[in-house]
Amino acid sequence: MCLTVSSEIAIIGAGPAGLMAAQVLSDAGYAPTVFDAKPSAGRKFLQAGRGGLNLTHAEEFSLFVSRYFEAQAFLKATLEAFTPTDIRSWAQNLGFETYIGSSGKVYPVDKKAAPLLRAWLRRLKENSTQFKMKHRLVNWSKDIWQFQTPDGLKNYSFDAVILAFGGASWPHLGATGYWTTILKNKGLQISPLKPANMGFNVTYSKLFKEKFAGTPLKNVELSFRDVNGKIHSKLGELLVSEYGVEGSLIYTYSKLLREKIEQHSPITVHLDLFPHRSQNKLEQQLSAPHGKQSLSAFWKRLGLSGVKASLLREVLAKESLNEPELVAQRLKNFPLCLESYRPIKEAISTAGGLKFENLDENLMLKEFPGVFCVGEMLDWEAPTGGYLLTAVMGQGKQAAQGLLKLK
Ligand SMILES: Cc1cc2nc3c(=O)[nH]c(=O)nc-3n(C[C@H](O)[C@H](O)[C@H](O)COP(=O)(O)OP(=O)(O)OC[C@H]3O[C@@H](n4cnc5c(N)ncnc54)[C@H](O)[C@@H]3O)c2cc1C
Repeated sequence: MCLTVSSEIAIIGAGPAGLMAAQVLSDAGYAPTVFDAKPSAGRKFLQAGRGGLNLTHAEEFSLFVSRYFEAQAFLKATLEAFTPTDIRSWAQNLGFETYIGSSGKVYPVDKKAAPLLRAWLRRLKENSTQFKMKHRLVNWSKDIWQFQTPDGLKNYSFDAVILAFGGASWPHLGATGYWTTILKNKGLQISPLKPANMGFNVTYSKLFKEKFAGTPLKNVELSFRDVNGKIHSKLGELLVSEYGVEGSLIYTYSKLLREKIEQHSPITVHLDLFPHRSQNKLEQQLSAPHGKQSLSAFWKRLGLSGVKASLLREVLAKESLNEPELVAQRLKNFPLCLESYRPIKEAISTAGGLKFENLDENLMLKEFPGVFCVGEMLDWEAPTGGYLLTAVMGQGKQAAQGLLKLK
């Protein structure tokens, strides 16, 4: 295979992985065409900006790489060639300064995705990248790539292709996971797609749900044992939701909790609702005489109110609420029963996907030279914290650079 600047190069999927591949190719003088099923590019990237676009993380690099679990060995080279500093420089180059938040997460100064995406697409178009939207790949047979378009089915052939279909979460934004059917038909190995960074179902009383769905549970410590018996424990924040719990603290462990639930459900994790006060101290405070004050008013004076106080009422019988030892014990070791995890369509990202064994070191399919695969469609996962965008864009760069080696 010998590519030139006039070769027909297709990128299928206009998410951050595909767009970064387009940037590298167009910077090298090529004119790739980006196809996407949706009417506009980067819909999930835009959605990511709604809660504050977390581009990457500023922690020490070896710690950063360790966030990718088993895939870190494969992704290390990707991340060395596209580091957290590189993604910040990329944003700066498009005119957007970034900053490091208190937790180490890195954001554009305005935290928004839309202006950044607009500038990125403008730059790509000025630099000869073509876009064909409303083109959904439905079949790949021999060298014919078949798309469903508003004008019916259309066949294309290309000199090289980069596939960047995304995973299967938030499917209304474009990534539906349909690609697994297309690639399985080619005999490629795919791990089942599963939710990552998702919520978990917990049964609450009707009253608790009505009052607290949407309420953050701040400053708690979550602890549990993983499938190998290793104890994990971390301070952070959860969000009580209509169905159970979600939020950054639970997302950090969504992989380990999912594995545990798959082995045996339901599972119980424990919350320390007062991580900065000892059980003895709490017991002592709860034992103090409270005279004519109601229990709620007395608790409130100790800092026990709102969602934390009501959680306690969820697990303790009314007569037990006056037992300082029992109450203190529950506050320090609150059992939260996770019955199951939420479906992939609601998850922030996707675990599973095309196995790395199908790919060479340039992310090219070993069985299909000239066809590369990048982004969330590959078999890896990471918690929220900017790890997802850094890796998908890094893979876009890696595949495009691999493609350029076919010259
Ligand atoms: C609510 C939310 C918040 C998030 N926040 C963050 C964050 O702050 N930081 C972070 O790092 N990550 C975040 N993410 C995750 C991040 O957005 C994704 O990991 C990232 O967009 C994946 O990039 P991708 O290019 O691999 O896939 P996608 O962005 O999903 O793009 C895939 C594209 O392929 C197209 N496509 C799929 N199938 C076909 C087909 N058959 N034919 C043609 N086109 C097709 C889709 O239409 C889509 O445009 C968030 C995700 C969500 C849902």
